[in-house]
Amino acid sequence: MKGEVVFLGTSAAVPTKDRNHTVIFFRYERDRFLFDCGEGAQRQMQKAKKSIMKISHIFLSHLHGDHVLGLPGIIQTIDFMGREEPLFIHGPKGTKEFVDLIYSIPGCDAKFDIVAKEAKGVILNTDEYYVESFPLEHSVPCVGYVFQEKPRKHIDDEKLKAMGIKPGPEYKSLKDGKSVKFKGKVLKPEDFIVEEKGFKFVYVADTRPTQTVIENASGADILVHEATFTHDALDMAKQAMHSTAREAGEVAREANAKQLVLIHYSPRYKDDELDKLRVDAQKNFDNVLVVRDFDSIEF
Ligand SMILES: [Zn+2]
Ligand SMILES: [Zn+2]
Repeated sequence: MKGEVVFLGTSAAVPTKDRNHTVIFFRYERDRFLFDCGEGAQRQMQKAKKSIMKISHIFLSHLHGDHVLGLPGIIQTIDFMGREEPLFIHGPKGTKEFVDLIYSIPGCDAKFDIVAKEAKGVILNTDEYYVESFPLEHSVPCVGYVFQEKPRKHIDDEKLKAMGIKPGPEYKSLKDGKSVKFKGKVLKPEDFIVEEKGFKFVYVADTRPTQTVIENASGADILVHEATFTHDALDMAKQAMHSTAREAGEVAREANAKQLVLIHYSPRYKDDELDKLRVDAQKNFDNVLVVRDFDSIEF
């Protein structure tokens, strides 16, 4: 297991008794992020036993209150706790101004650095993965995010065995990236290297479904997509620039995703009615998960 996704908030617009505003905790190896940071984020993290001190990057989709109002509380708490490492906050146009506004709240003048940046293209790039943003279509500037693990290269043992190369000096040299002579032929390591596609996680917050979303979600292992309404409320979804569960299913199908996770449900659906959203999405895509607060997926 390399990481996990914990859904700490799944409600749209207003929280309900059982559903917090949108917050997603994401861990890959030692790195921990939040995707969106709705009100109540820090208590949800406490309940899920996740340390807010270990979060290095927060990726905001947009500046509607249900996605960002947890930020002032988190900044104040980690400042109290003596944070020294910088906190990186990414988001659409206006994110830096929003963070500056938080700084101006008495008691929120953090002693650690907060680096707020407008998310455009690749915003985080390490040896193992990168995080990229792409535009969504909502009533205010809004972005989606792709977490893409880089492909891993390894020597195809089966291919070597098939050629009769058993563990020994030639085998070791090829594995070390050196060409070898075997039965009069020169064997190059690149002929035995296989590339394993890396894990892909895509977060699509508030949006109408678009071709850009489909392209960016292409081949996602986990596609988290908002599903504010069921399809009988399509007019409402269009008016508020949201998606229906059925539309999210269509995006997952067109993108050839492996799994679709629905979040951001309108409070009009009670907790025992959420299955309606799953059924609606499954009109277009089979592997659908309707998550509730604190549900998690390991990968
Ligand atoms: Zn929202
Ligand atoms: Zn919104």
